[in-house]
Amino acid sequence: MSARRPRPTPRSSRHFAVVGAGIAGLACARTLHQAGHRVTVFEADTQPGGRLATEDSPFGSFDAGAQYFTVRDARFTQALEAASPGLARRWSANAVRVLDEHGRVVEAALSTRESHWVAVPHMQALPQRWAEPLVAAGALHLGTAVTRLSPDALDARRWQLHTQGVGDEHPVHAGFDAVLLAVPAARARGLLAASGLSGAVEGLAKVEVAPCWTLMLAFPNAAQPGLGGLGPQWNAARSTHHRVAWLARESSKPGRERIDRWTVQASADWSREHQGDDGQRVTAKLLKAFAEVTGIHAQPSWTQAVLWRQAQTLQPLGRPFVWDADRSLGLCGDWCLGHRVEDAFVSGLELALSVV
Ligand SMILES: Cc1cc2nc3c(=O)[nH]c(=O)nc-3n(C[C@H](O)[C@H](O)[C@H](O)COP(=O)(O)OP(=O)(O)OC[C@H]3O[C@@H](n4cnc5c(N)ncnc54)[C@H](O)[C@@H]3O)c2cc1C
Repeated sequence: MSARRPRPTPRSSRHFAVVGAGIAGLACARTLHQAGHRVTVFEADTQPGGRLATEDSPFGSFDAGAQYFTVRDARFTQALEAASPGLARRWSANAVRVLDEHGRVVEAALSTRESHWVAVPHMQALPQRWAEPLVAAGALHLGTAVTRLSPDALDARRWQLHTQGVGDEHPVHAGFDAVLLAVPAARARGLLAASGLSGAVEGLAKVEVAPCWTLMLAFPNAAQPGLGGLGPQWNAARSTHHRVAWLARESSKPGRERIDRWTVQASADWSREHQGDDGQRVTAKLLKAFAEVTGIHAQPSWTQAVLWRQAQTLQPLGRPFVWDADRSLGLCGDWCLGHRVEDAFVSGLELALSVV
């Protein structure tokens, strides 16, 4: 399996398998689809989006993963305008600041440096919209986790994918001219190892991604934000508290339900130390830290703690994507370049442009 395989005969239209429907996989798949190639996208989750995720509550939605995105690359501006006009809005994060563990400002007004963008009515609306042409083309297989790649049983120049569907189904999908993995780095390592391709991608072993415990809190009894709501008058802050790295008032984002809701992200170190804890214990500890930083001591009516095992890249690959032309195997994702939504977009786009 690790031997180099002969390349398929070049043809104008090829069949690409894209594994993962986060923003990297969607940017990649849409570009190939628009270029006239046949694309089949496999997504383990029942919805597209990956870490652009939304959690619903009786009191309104929460951006459980990415809180906002930057738009520095002109191609991202173009893609947002073409694929999802009006969906991205500026979030007045009310001058994101850095606070110490007692809620004192240690650095002010970070947000004056650049705009924070969010999708409306929630972050997952963006990948959902971007997935629409793929859904219309019947090219998106949701709830289908790829477990292994192997040479196509009928044509060894091509790939087949072993998958785990709902229940006991293990369908094999064959006939792909190329496979593009748009999954988190650890998942890519696992898939390559299961396929006898460990070590096929130089530098992949060194990519490091931190976990993140995220706590979501709703205070439906608080007054409306902006009209004397609970706690501080800012909407988002970074924190040097040993447990908490980021806090945001979800209800201050455009297009959201106005009921007071907060998202609290634990620091990478604390999340790593507490990966084995249950949600109840984590909720109690992060709630205490939240009160220390914000001064809000009220009990929330609704809480939810989520652990992202692969949240934020600490050590990226250092190149925008991987393309092994001999194997017809590619990799993309935020971890190639950094830790942001925009990194994922650029990585997926550039991989697609390199293979069209
Ligand atoms: C808590 C948190 C906060 C964040 N905050 C910000 C922020 O404020 N701003 C910002 O710019 N970025 C932020 N990020 C990072 C941002 O969310 C990511 O950079 C970006 O969403 C990554 O996109 P991706 O497509 O590379 O990967 P993902 O979004 O992880 O997508 C990968 C997809 O692959 C699927 N998959 C995995 N394995 C398989 C398999 N075997 N078969 C099929 N499918 C599979 C997954 O289900 C997933 O949908 C945050 C992330 C987290 C977790």
